[in-house]
Amino acid sequence: HWRVMTRPLAPNDGHAMALVVLRDETDVRRMELMRVDFLANASHELRTPLASLSGFIETLRGHARDDPKARDKFLDIMATQADRMGRLVADLLSLSRIELNEHIPPSGRVDLARAASDVIDAVSVLSDDRQVRVVLQDRGASAPVHGDRDEIVQVVQNLVDNAIKYSAAGDAVEVVIQPEVTLDQASAPWSGGNRGEGATRLPLVTPDRETGMLYAAVTVRDHGPGMAREHLPRLTERFYRVEGQKSGERAGTGLGLAIVKHIVNRHRGGLTVESAPGQGSVFTAYFPVAAPKAS
Ligand code: ADP
Repeated sequence: HWRVMTRPLAPNDGHAMALVVLRDETDVRRMELMRVDFLANASHELRTPLASLSGFIETLRGHARDDPKARDKFLDIMATQADRMGRLVADLLSLSRIELNEHIPPSGRVDLARAASDVIDAVSVLSDDRQVRVVLQDRGASAPVHGDRDEIVQVVQNLVDNAIKYSAAGDAVEVVIQPEVTLDQASAPWSGGNRGEGATRLPLVTPDRETGMLYAAVTVRDHGPGMAREHLPRLTERFYRVEGQKSGERAGTGLGLAIVKHIVNRHRGGLTVESAPGQGSVFTAYFPVAAPKAS
């Protein structure tokens, strides 16, 4: 996509001249299109629950007014829709905040293992509700990484939320922390489970290769429906969803993995997925290890 700018020049000697500037604006244009696309998607996603809320308000004002049973049912649906809008707005805000800071490397130090155990303790309500067990291996281990605590927690949270959401009642979700892996180990097929033939680990975010760099990794594994290979590279796109999946009451926003991607990018870490239909999914996020604190 080129922009052409011409400007006539009038030199003194009477010759007609013009200055022609050609500028490659492909990237600028692509960013603009992405932004427009994003806004259109976001508006559409917000409009759906909003339309449902307006519809039920009308019904409550009309014939459901004097029917307490119908009223309760509609109010429940409205609460679900309002909750959905709330989650969507919260995710949109997270995404724009993280994107804004993406070029600033995080300065803090976080224990990835601790972040994982905090997340798991806090999700027990959701997992009890869905009768899914979340198991953390090696509770009490430590895995210090360079990072922003809230953002690292959000990464683990989004991966664990998804694993629970796409699991069936009675399933287990396993969370494993590896305090020190190399980049090659972090992206090699995961050896922690009996993966069937053909399931490969696909990188979704890969950090720049730096010699000798060590990473701490968090792996979240579920026994849910898994995904066909063609979906995997697109999972971190905003609003991308695999069609025909049941995710229970808590329908997703389609932004969770986009948020994970931006946080991992900011931390110069990586993200991989390994999944196949009927074989569950394994997501691994990894972050540069922080040197031990000088004492
Ligand atoms: P959502 O909020 O919809 O879960 P995400 O960005 O977190 O959005 O995920 C994008 C899509 O990837 C989901 O809608 C779902 O189709 C698929 N997905 C993510 N995690 C899993 C998982 N653990 N098992 C199966 N499908 C998943």
